[in-house]
Amino acid sequence: MRIPALVIILVLIGILSSNCTFRNTTGIPADTIVLTTEEADYIMNFLTDFLVFSEEGKLGMPDRGFPKQFYLYDKDTVISLGEMLSLFFQLQSYEAKATKQPFFIPKQQVFSFVDSASNPQEAYELSLQGKIPKRIAGETLQNYTYKMLVGENVNYNYKIPDLNIKEKVIKISFTFDIESGRYVSDASGITISPCKDDNYSLGLEEDEKVCDNPSYMAWMSPRDNKIIYTQYPYPQVSGILGFNVILNYSERYGIPITNFIVKKDIVAFNILDKELVDRARLLVKKGLFEVGSHTRYHTHLGFVDEELAKKELKESKLFLEEFFNTTVFGFRAPYLSILNDDDMHVKALLEANYSYSSDSIKYVGKVPGHDFFNKPWNTKKYTAYMSPNEFREMMVEKEYIITLDHPWNMAYQDGNILVEEPNLIDNHRAIVLTAISNGGIPVLLRDLNLSKS
Ligand SMILES: [Zn+2]
Repeated sequence: MRIPALVIILVLIGILSSNCTFRNTTGIPADTIVLTTEEADYIMNFLTDFLVFSEEGKLGMPDRGFPKQFYLYDKDTVISLGEMLSLFFQLQSYEAKATKQPFFIPKQQVFSFVDSASNPQEAYELSLQGKIPKRIAGETLQNYTYKMLVGENVNYNYKIPDLNIKEKVIKISFTFDIESGRYVSDASGITISPCKDDNYSLGLEEDEKVCDNPSYMAWMSPRDNKIIYTQYPYPQVSGILGFNVILNYSERYGIPITNFIVKKDIVAFNILDKELVDRARLLVKKGLFEVGSHTRYHTHLGFVDEELAKKELKESKLFLEEFFNTTVFGFRAPYLSILNDDDMHVKALLEANYSYSSDSIKYVGKVPGHDFFNKPWNTKKYTAYMSPNEFREMMVEKEYIITLDHPWNMAYQDGNILVEEPNLIDNHRAIVLTAISNGGIPVLLRDLNLSKS
């Protein structure tokens, strides 16, 4: 008799503790999205950074408070604020019970507010039934969330947006031209040859040091005299600081990025900070980092002779494919230069086995008669120099967005002489956070088909 009684008790406990939510054998309720630890981190990192950037006044006024939604790229899933908060309570609840797995969010759940929960476990159970408490353990949801995620007590007095927004408003491809310093035309009269000192030629083999042909082996900007960035020599410091931020977007939020890379500069990064390049390699492996070519030496395709330009297209692709163990599909020309004319340009890229360009030629989208696409940058201003509000407004006007930034413009002002501007680093991140909260769907440029959905 003792065994059946125990079974009955266990069944009753099971029913009571599940709060009438059906659970399978793994303890995960049915109809849920199961998340890896990494995915749960992406969502919580996004929520945390959004709260901090709001509090610090870095987001546009209409965006401050809680994010409206998050986009989980590897599952192609929009996560509503209600789902984010449910996951947050789950983490809180697991912490209280010293358990860590499994992470999941209820699928198709419609969320509404209830008055209060006495502790995070109760808030979590309520959230599984679609109820988000406005107060937890005597504190407002806003203050409680901020305190637990950021570790500070502030009066986080923002209104909370709708809990159920899940919108795919616009596809955005965040693209970067990865280079150190700024490659400026020799007509500027201030540009510095790679042979001026060892720092300017870092990344080149002896037999690559061509120093009298800036159209082929490009020359670079000097920097301003007021210096706070001293972590690496100039010009590489301007590339490495920005590249670190760019990688961080993929590492911290799991969002995809497309990078058109100059060989000489990535080799220099690898000499000065191998760990940085290893981080990029890991992201390539995870499918979050698309490698595109920006030539080996930032060659101006319109100013060098045709054969040399064609060789550059091929050699840079071969180098990057081996260096990153990947396939290179896309190309962006240095200075947005054009090899001869638009059709010759496309023909040369096809011959070098590229599938698309991101250049300023007359074609946008599929090039007639060829299995080849041109996907030009369409924001006209580097993202780091826009305001979050300006970016959000642009999301309403356009059918898709292809951004363009360089590592240097993430931390320096525009101009032929690079002047440090540390605020830009956070401004760029504020735009990424704003874009995703407002329904921006980040995609690799190779996957963007230039139509809205
Ligand atoms: Zn460039």
